[in-house]
Amino acid sequence: MNISILGGGIGGLSTAIALKQEGFDVSVYERHSKPTTVGAGIVCWPNASFVLAQLGILDEVAKVSGSIKYMNRYSNTGESIGSLDISELNRLMKYPSYSILRKDLINALIQRTIALGIDIYYQHDVTHFSDKNGKTSVKFSNGKSIESDIIIGSDGRMKSLSRAYVNGDNTPIYQGFINWVGVFEDKSVNFSDLSVADYWGTGKRFGIVPVSKNKAYWAGGAVAETIMAVNSNKYKSELNSLFSDWPDLMTKIINGTPESSINKIYVHDHDPIDKWHKNNVILLGDSAHSPLPTSGQGACQALEDAWHFTRCLKENINNIANAFVQFTELRKDKTSGITMGGRQLASSIFNQDIEFCQQRNLASRNTNYQNVVVGMAKGWSRGLPIEC
Ligand SMILES: Cc1cc2nc3c(=O)[nH]c(=O)nc-3n(C[C@H](O)[C@H](O)[C@H](O)COP(=O)(O)OP(=O)(O)OC[C@H]3O[C@@H](n4cnc5c(N)ncnc54)[C@H](O)[C@@H]3O)c2cc1C
Repeated sequence: MNISILGGGIGGLSTAIALKQEGFDVSVYERHSKPTTVGAGIVCWPNASFVLAQLGILDEVAKVSGSIKYMNRYSNTGESIGSLDISELNRLMKYPSYSILRKDLINALIQRTIALGIDIYYQHDVTHFSDKNGKTSVKFSNGKSIESDIIIGSDGRMKSLSRAYVNGDNTPIYQGFINWVGVFEDKSVNFSDLSVADYWGTGKRFGIVPVSKNKAYWAGGAVAETIMAVNSNKYKSELNSLFSDWPDLMTKIINGTPESSINKIYVHDHDPIDKWHKNNVILLGDSAHSPLPTSGQGACQALEDAWHFTRCLKENINNIANAFVQFTELRKDKTSGITMGGRQLASSIFNQDIEFCQQRNLASRNTNYQNVVVGMAKGWSRGLPIEC
């Protein structure tokens, strides 16, 4: 059985590794000429770390990650409004949480694909799917085409052609806010306890995730009704005008990050869908479910897909259709719940009503975060062999 994976991002590479480890013949087709490392960083929560351990790269990931301890929430004036104990989450889920730069996670995945001898074909930009007697073939812009027993569509959230092919529509939904993201490094700053800092304002948010004592990735977010053209020369002045009256650390981070390394993202997600497969094509990762960054789970769920899909295929080795149905059934509810949870948190964080935001911050201060941790552990363990 040969398997072709479209898209060499987090979902595509992790699925290639999981399948190859079980002896499947697998190749990856990526549109870019090299691995894509755009984006700042990711928290690999314990559910993702479970999968990284199964892929044989958790130790490598640990070497270039931060062992984050707490997620501390603040108002935009720096007042503490709650603290979530990540060490307790790790204890309940029995795996660590790691903050990592996106480029380092991709690099760990790439090194593993190389070690396993997986072929990655770069400059293979999918342009077309076609049907022939219930089997699908794929064309690339370089004129080449492929046919495989299984085609995995893991071509991301913004223009997934595999989602368009399977589901008939692939239009992402703009959720009304921008994220400027970047990586900040400064020897004079000491993120001593490696805790996430999450500042909530009115229609604005600033999050800082340390990956080491002197390095953090960050995201400044703000409501924007419409999508406009971006101009990278203006990113710092845009950020400064939004966050100059927030705690000093934000100004230091904004001004201390090279402008060329800041990205401005109009944030989109997708409505959950029921249809994840057609003929011999199956979707996974963001092309199947793409929650907002406020869910904190996009990459983690793409990693979970890799592990689940491989198991479903192994259990249904003579019946691919069954494997697809089983995988979809296993994954649909959990990923839909995460998408809707991401939207709910975004609508609260980016609310523009001052009164609402004051009440929200008060509610956060009065929240029993121990209960929140237990709920997160239960929700994120769902479907995985992690008892908590
Ligand atoms: C601002 C922002 C912050 C985020 N922060 C977090 C976070 O903190 N934690 C977290 O868990 N998740 C986070 N995410 C989500 C996470 O990045 C994604 O969920 C994750 O990357 C999904 O993996 P994927 O492989 O499905 O897609 P991607 O990683 O996007 O990979 C898709 C791949 O497909 C390739 N491709 C696309 N089209 C084609 C084509 N036509 N032909 C061939 N190849 C193609 C792309 O080049 C890319 O390499 C964030 C997302 C955003 C937008």
